[in-house]
Amino acid sequence: MDALPDLTAYDAVLFDLDGVLTPTAEVHMHAWQTMFEELFATWDISPPYTERDYFDHLDGKKRYDGVASLLRSRDVEVPWGDPSDPPSADTVCGIGNRKNVVFERVLRAEGIAAYPGSLRLLDVLAAAGTPVAVVSSSKNAEEVLAAAGIRDRFVVVMDGVIAERDHLASKPAPDVFVEAARMLGVDPTRSAAVEDAISGVRSAAAGEFALVVGVDRGVGEQHLVDAGAHVVVKDLEEFVQ
Ligand SMILES: [Mg+2]
Repeated sequence: MDALPDLTAYDAVLFDLDGVLTPTAEVHMHAWQTMFEELFATWDISPPYTERDYFDHLDGKKRYDGVASLLRSRDVEVPWGDPSDPPSADTVCGIGNRKNVVFERVLRAEGIAAYPGSLRLLDVLAAAGTPVAVVSSSKNAEEVLAAAGIRDRFVVVMDGVIAERDHLASKPAPDVFVEAARMLGVDPTRSAAVEDAISGVRSAAAGEFALVVGVDRGVGEQHLVDAGAHVVVKDLEEFVQ
């Protein structure tokens, strides 16, 4: 196999969060389960929530679309509502917002550990003085970074909260990666981006990053290459061996 590029040779390295720095999917799965088990019990909905529901209705979908899809599978209709609905509202948006509250609860209760290989790479980049940023679609990025104890490693954290505030188009559009590079004061064409999702790899490739690293946590190497990844690894540990 060809040697992997030296990431310290780039002006900066921009990292996706969920699935790249932290195994956040497990926390999301647990939060959905907790939230729907409570809801199903309260509303006497059957059949009960199972892990299968996560993959059939929630995984990879926007939060509200996932809620609507799962409720429809139980023949339950509630009004869509509005994203500003409180978590107590019995609307699709309210229930979606409730999941967010439960997510924060689960995160606080169980914590989250960064992938050891990602931590080691961050150590190497810090030692070399290479600036690093987080580019996440998540609105929980700050909480996840704090829970993992790595928030202070990043000068710039571009997340779903900032993207919404600044009207930046979400991945796969290049906007969030390009804006994070601007905030860091670096040129994307001299920087590297690291992603585990097809939409994220597309975003970084469209932003013309000099190096787009795909981390294959299950999406599949060829799919990441087809989306624009220049190199694909199973874990960021491979960059520090
Ligand atoms: Mg990801």
